[in-house]
Amino acid sequence: MNDHSDRANLDFTPAQMQAMGENVLRRVTSHLAALPDLPSGGDYAGIEELCRAMREAPPEAGAPLDTLLDPLFSEWIPRSFGTSGPGYLAYIPGGGVYTAALADFISNATNRYTGVWKGAPALVQLEANALDWLREWMQFPETARGLFTTGGSMAMFNAIACAREKLLGADIRRGTLYVSSQAHHSITKAAKLAGIAHDRVREIDVDGDYRMRVDALERTLADDRAAGLNPFMVFSTAGTTNTGAVDPIDAVADIAAREGLWHHVDGAYGGCFHMVPELRPLLRGLPRADSLTLDPHKGLFLPYGTGMLLVRDGEALRLLHSSTAGYLPDNQTEFYDPAQYGPDLSRGFPGLRVWLTLKFYGAARYRAALAEKRELAVWAAQEIAKIPGIVMDAPPQLSLFAFHIEGAQLDTLAAQNAATRTLMERVTARGKLMLTGAQVGDRFLGRVCVLSFRTRRVDMETCVQQLAEEAAALQSTRP
Ligand SMILES: *Cc1c(COP(=O)(O)O)cnc(C)c1O
Repeated sequence: MNDHSDRANLDFTPAQMQAMGENVLRRVTSHLAALPDLPSGGDYAGIEELCRAMREAPPEAGAPLDTLLDPLFSEWIPRSFGTSGPGYLAYIPGGGVYTAALADFISNATNRYTGVWKGAPALVQLEANALDWLREWMQFPETARGLFTTGGSMAMFNAIACAREKLLGADIRRGTLYVSSQAHHSITKAAKLAGIAHDRVREIDVDGDYRMRVDALERTLADDRAAGLNPFMVFSTAGTTNTGAVDPIDAVADIAAREGLWHHVDGAYGGCFHMVPELRPLLRGLPRADSLTLDPHKGLFLPYGTGMLLVRDGEALRLLHSSTAGYLPDNQTEFYDPAQYGPDLSRGFPGLRVWLTLKFYGAARYRAALAEKRELAVWAAQEIAKIPGIVMDAPPQLSLFAFHIEGAQLDTLAAQNAATRTLMERVTARGKLMLTGAQVGDRFLGRVCVLSFRTRRVDMETCVQQLAEEAAALQSTRP
């Protein structure tokens, strides 16, 4: 009996918790201090063998914390993309501000229930405040409501479900949805989850700057209406993942208004730049959207696991999600109530990481950091465009640009595609930076995206220099 009750006690004394916490804190701070020296692309030598060797049976007996943390920090964490390091210019960089980690520790250790307002009214109010500040920075009306999600994909899913419910009701199969050929693949996936099958998603052509062609959109809308279909939703992107293109949001908003479509703006990468008033003209029309995806785990430098949806017609979001049960407190309407606006009931507390971080830094420092990321991209793109053989296909509209390499020896599309791919790989192999490219039509483009809060001028100087050196090497030999 005694033995059993000892085993059943999963708690610790305050002194034990303090020691465990300090152990973790020491490891985390040394890891963060060493970030600039870790290979940006990760250490992938022998990764398959490592993963195979890691498979193990469920543990019957426990193990000391150190034996678990040692390999985590020395073996496993370094064998991953350096998403939170200064040299990570691949894909769309992530964040990982320290304040958010502290907030998560507090959320998880105190484990209060924020699904229903009544469970933790003041804590839910913090989340409501954070949502409302972002609403204000995006210049959405006060009647808009929002939701923190696990990411941009889930924001998209909720937006499509919301538009479908409001505009199609039960008549789902006739409904058609419009994206550009450069839109993020998470939209088609979200559409499928929300009951809009692939054969009801239309891909609209882009212009020479990779922006949605509104004339092509109008033509496709007319064709679908003539075929008896029911166009209900159009997406524009505020910064595409491939080339950073910002669609003509204002013109799409005009068409959406005229045609009675729900207009969603995918701002997962670029939406947060709207926080900076000087940059708002780059995103003209964004505040007119019916709904907007933001990814605070990209543009607000937060750790992964925080996306956001804003819906102009807040009541439409509530009507989609609102429900109750005999065992729950009655719904109330004065205060924001997460379960009434989103799919989760029991949930983590994403609001605290956003609230604590925004309050700690303040909007002014956020604007400075975002404006700096754009300036770094603009500067680096100008320098990289001067490198012999580099052709800048997409100069930065926000903080992402895309290019390819040509040369006397690189005189076919296939050779240029192979060389551009090799250029990204060789710079990454040097360790300081991680760069990736994207297949866009028949071209493979190299890309640089500046969005890590740790990326500063010195990292971009390294980027320009390493690209120049590797480009010169590539032009003298066929890859
Ligand atoms: C990252 C991204 C998404 C998907 O968001 P997740 O947070 O990865 O789910 C969608 N659209 C764009 C433009 C993105 O950059």
